Amino acid sequence: MEQGFCIWLTGLSGSGKTTIAQELVKRLENSRFIEVMDGDEIRKGLSRDLGFSKEDRNEHNRRVIFCSKLLARSGVIVIVALISPYRETRAYAKEQIQNTIEVFVKAPLEVCIERDPKGLYKKALAGEIKNFTGIDDPYEEPLNPDVVVETDKQDVNESVNTILFKIHANGLLSDEAYESMTK
Ligand code: ADP
Repeated sequence: MEQGFCIWLTGLSGSGKTTIAQELVKRLENSRFIEVMDGDEIRKGLSRDLGFSKEDRNEHNRRVIFCSKLLARSGVIVIVALISPYRETRAYAKEQIQNTIEVFVKAPLEVCIERDPKGLYKKALAGEIKNFTGIDDPYEEPLNPDVVVETDKQDVNESVNTILFKIHANGLLSDEAYESMTK
């Protein structure tokens, strides 16, 4: 069986994690089983009892890490799209989930505010939402991520190509599979 692995996308809200995850699925889906763990979706189900305090964020991330670990162990490609603002939690993810590639989805806060795809920054800036990452809650930038994609400078395809290159370089995709999914 080919090895499972995890692409862990971390970054501010609106930086492009979900958009990149969806494109990664399109490229990878013919190769084997693939599962996306999107923070916003998981908060509607598995983590619906949790809020945005540091404790709750850590618990939310811990649940995602637990599920991702089981999936990757069973050979699945797991794509995690989670703000995951704390370095310590991301280090724990790498320790727990086999073959985890940490991707910093980087965009300046002003760009994320400008994009505001979910209208959340508007609410946070108006004080209608509290503990919003980047506004009144911290985001600890990765110090040594495996991949950095700058979504204000690269388009989605370039970001996805950079990520796939790294996965292949780490021996997690065969030459044949890699060639068929790069464009
Ligand atoms: P997140 O999941 O990080 O909160 P989303 O993917 O939901 O972010 O939103 C990112 C927004 O930015 C989308 O509206 C997307 O179309 C836009 N966008 C513009 N340029 C890029 C890019 N290069 N990569 C990813 N998203 C981009």
